[in-house]
Amino acid sequence: MLSKRTEEAVVLRVSDYSESSQIVSLLTAGSGLVRLIAKGARRGTKTRFSAGVDLLEHGTLTFVPAHGDAGLGNLAEWAQRDAFAALRADLRSLYAAMYAVELVPPLTEEYDPHPGLFEGLLTLLRGLSGPPQPRAAPADRSAAVIAAILRFQVRLLNEIGLMPRLTECVECRRPSTGAGAYFSALAGGLLCRDCEMHHADKRRVPPGVLSRGGGLCVTAGAVELLNGYLMHVANRRFESYGPLQQVLRER
Ligand SMILES: [Zn+2]
Repeated sequence: MLSKRTEEAVVLRVSDYSESSQIVSLLTAGSGLVRLIAKGARRGTKTRFSAGVDLLEHGTLTFVPAHGDAGLGNLAEWAQRDAFAALRADLRSLYAAMYAVELVPPLTEEYDPHPGLFEGLLTLLRGLSGPPQPRAAPADRSAAVIAAILRFQVRLLNEIGLMPRLTECVECRRPSTGAGAYFSALAGGLLCRDCEMHHADKRRVPPGVLSRGGGLCVTAGAVELLNGYLMHVANRRFESYGPLQQVLRER
């Protein structure tokens, strides 16, 4: 008989499965990504999950892991710890959180533990739902969200061992000066002007994205560059990125 596990987790995705069941994807602190069936969890039905299981919640999860090729484990209990209500009141924060949870399932393996990524996701959600700053200008609020989402992208890529090389040319290893560099997702990082011609997928890095000392400046362009790279790695688009980009541009 399979034993239950109890862990902290964040809800990444909830989809209806049948009249009375849902499939819930969560990032757990110790087991990584898990996909579970929650029987009787749909709203409006009489269930033991009185509050249902909602997207972007942090809670304590008890589940029976999937075994063999069965695919889905079973969600036994869910106790919400934090629903991050404040982040739902601000579109920038909400879309940033939606984007973060959309990135995790295609870029991590089920039952492959990433405690650092779990910590990074919690930090992001807590930051995005932090105390409101009523006097902050929209541009400042966008800048804070950009910084938070960029940190999460970098953390995710480091956790899965795929952070692109951004301080030197991946081919000749010459240090990047930040100006006139190209980026190739296929090559996994920057290319200098002498090496870019051999790479069909390269594109010019927009000004202001790379710092002089190497690495990324905290800008929307840097988020865009890493999003392009993440799309390449995951081999798919992220639906929440468009709306996020749009609200971040609003002044
Ligand atoms: Zn080079």
